[in-house]
Amino acid sequence: MSADGAESGELKQPTLQSETPDYNDAYDAIVVGAGLAGTAAALTMAREGLDVLLLERGPAPGTKNVFGGVLYTPTIRELVDIDDAPMERYIAEKRFSMLTSDGDETAVSIRPGAWHDEPHNDSYTVLRRRFDEWFAKQAVEAGATLVTETTVTGVLRDGQTIVGVETDRPNGELRAPVVVLAEGANSLVSEAADLKERPDREDVAVSVKEVFKLDRETIDDRFRLDGDAGAAYHYFGEGAVGQAVGGGFVYTNKRTISVGIAYRIEDAAQGQTPEETLDAFESHPAVAPLIRGARRTEYAAHVIPEGGAKAMPDLVHDGAVVVGDAAGLVLNSGVHLEGTNMAVESGYHAGKAIAAALEDDRSDESALVAYPRDLEQSFVVENLRHYDWFQGTIADDRQFLFEDLPRALADAETEYFKMDRTSKDEHTDAARDRLLEAAGGWFGAAKRAWRFRRMLS
Ligand SMILES: Cc1cc2nc3c(=O)[nH]c(=O)nc-3n(C[C@H](O)[C@H](O)[C@H](O)COP(=O)(O)OP(=O)(O)OC[C@H]3O[C@@H](n4cnc5c(N)ncnc54)[C@H](O)[C@@H]3O)c2cc1C
Repeated sequence: MSADGAESGELKQPTLQSETPDYNDAYDAIVVGAGLAGTAAALTMAREGLDVLLLERGPAPGTKNVFGGVLYTPTIRELVDIDDAPMERYIAEKRFSMLTSDGDETAVSIRPGAWHDEPHNDSYTVLRRRFDEWFAKQAVEAGATLVTETTVTGVLRDGQTIVGVETDRPNGELRAPVVVLAEGANSLVSEAADLKERPDREDVAVSVKEVFKLDRETIDDRFRLDGDAGAAYHYFGEGAVGQAVGGGFVYTNKRTISVGIAYRIEDAAQGQTPEETLDAFESHPAVAPLIRGARRTEYAAHVIPEGGAKAMPDLVHDGAVVVGDAAGLVLNSGVHLEGTNMAVESGYHAGKAIAAALEDDRSDESALVAYPRDLEQSFVVENLRHYDWFQGTIADDRQFLFEDLPRALADAETEYFKMDRTSKDEHTDAARDRLLEAAGGWFGAAKRAWRFRRMLS
């Protein structure tokens, strides 16, 4: 598995050498994972004057990260000046397509003129290796200590209280009043320490992604882009992920295209392999021309927590907090896939709460409750709660949404636009009847409109 294909950055300092210096109690907080949530927490705490140790298992932040992806920047923008951040392209177009397995596509494209203007709707494609390294550098400049190539293998406890971490370094125990668990979706440390349960299978999606290299001009031409404008294409239906509940995506970077699929791990367990599903998606007539002639440079797989607010674990414990994907903070509402903004927002609130608690010389659970309270009042929990019904509802209606509807739409469009000597009236009636047949008549259509009304409320 390789990283996002970016050249290595400059962040070398400071790193642990083969011998472990005595860091015990030299730090106010230890952060596990220099992803978006961990770095946001480290940066916030360092700005508050705390001594922070940020531990990352990869050789540099971002090297282990798998991502679609579009970085949403409303919170990062508040924390750092993103003018020099290594963005690939701003999102100028979002496109939503329904694909049948017979090669049909029905698409809606959104290209508001306003997205060309700063701040570009706070949506940018990034290569995580480059972006995470740059973001961690901001935390180091604020005073945090970054140590790479160090895997946290467990937490240390004194009774029920977490008092530090164990690492894979020789004599690698490190103690500090607070540990921030920001290890991402594969949260092995938090689970082993009983800080969260292993997520239910229906709350986890598996994702595989490939990166294709193409020259910049070809990308611009194929996606109708100019300058730094980019595109985010989302695909649904049987032609995207077969019988599974999920979708596919294509994102443009400057000189590469990220192509991937994500669907319920349960469907993968029932025999639909991610590799075959991705192959079929990339061969679909709506997708294949976008990557024709491109060189594949990367293949990666990851999981995405999609359980929403109802699956969130306890966020605070005596001596520890859980942030970002480790806390299940990802929104997938079909049209929104957002985790980056939630990771940063949670790291920020956790960092603030820790600084306030340590000012009173406390790090017990009740001293840290400002973190869940502030997160609860932010867009993060509000959005997760708003869409808590979504994943279960689409899974219950999967046959209609992923197979019958894309097929019926394609048939209805073919009928509606059919060029022959029959009247438009007749074609319109036939197209409407085809849609109603798929929806279960007027009654079935009304039931579904009611079921999905919260998409618009
Ligand atoms: C294929 C895919 C596509 C996605 N697309 C989008 C998108 O387009 N937009 C969006 O907003 N979100 C998207 N997401 C979700 C988004 O990537 C996550 O929500 C976000 O990265 C979470 O940030 P995080 O810091 O919590 O975790 P991560 O980014 O996963 O960072 C965790 C860090 O912890 C490190 N780590 C883990 N364990 C240890 C350990 N034991 N010791 C030391 N270090 C450790 C890892 O190496 C990593 O650097 C996508 C996810 C996937 C998988």
